Amino acid sequence: MTPPDSSPEPGRIQSGEGALARRLLIVGPPGAGKGTQAVRIAELLGIPAISTGDIFRANVSQETELGVLAKSYMDKGEYVPDTVTNDMVRDRLGQEDAQAGFLLDGYPRTLPQVEALDGMLSELGIALDRVLLLEVQTEEVVARLVERGREQGRSDDTEETIRRRIEVYSEQTAPLIDVFDQRGILRRVDGMASIDEVTAALREALVLG
Ligand code: AMP
Repeated sequence: MTPPDSSPEPGRIQSGEGALARRLLIVGPPGAGKGTQAVRIAELLGIPAISTGDIFRANVSQETELGVLAKSYMDKGEYVPDTVTNDMVRDRLGQEDAQAGFLLDGYPRTLPQVEALDGMLSELGIALDRVLLLEVQTEEVVARLVERGREQGRSDDTEETIRRRIEVYSEQTAPLIDVFDQRGILRRVDGMASIDEVTAALREALVLG
C-alpha cells in the first residue's frame, strides 16, 4: 500500500502556506449548506464529494432494496441504521476515485459511525486531516429548508420533518464536534455568510500545518 502523501497526486494543490487537507468531512445541521459547499470544495481539490443523503436518495428513486429501507427512516427525519450506512460508505470509500482524497458530507453522524469510519480508514492506512464545521442559526436553517422543500420537492423537507431532523442532529451528531475538536482537526466556519464567502473561509481552513 502506498503511504499517504508520498507522491504528488492528481488534483493536488499546493498553496503558498502549505499543502491542503484532502481527507475531509463537512459537518453542520440540516440546511447549513453542506451539500453546496461540499461540491465546491471537492471540485477545487479534485476529489469526490460523497454525500450519504444523495446516495440514499438515488437508491430511493431507483427503488432498490436499500432505497425502500432508507426511505422509511428519511421520511420521518430519523437516521438510517448505522450498520446499513457504514456498509454503504465502506463500499464507496473503496472505489478508485476516493483513493487520493474525499470529502464526506453527512457522514459520520453518530458515534458508532465515527468508530466505523476510523476502522475503515485505518485499514486503508489513512486518517482524516480536516473536519469542517458549518455554524448556522436554527431558525434561519428551518426557513432555508422549507424553501428547498418547495423548490426540490424533497419529501423530508416538510416543516415537521425538518424540526425532527434538527432535534436528531442535536442529540446524535452535535456531540461528534467535541470528538473531532479533541483530535485537533476541527475548523469552524460561519455558515451564515454568502455562499462565496463561506467557500473562501472553508478554503482557508484546508491549509495544513
Ligand atoms: P442529508 O441529505 O445529509 O440531510 O440526509 C438526508 C437523510 O438521509 C437523513 O435525514 C437521514 O435519514 C439519511 N442519512 C444521510 N446520511 C446519514 C447517516 N450518515 N446516517 C444515518 N442516516 C443518514
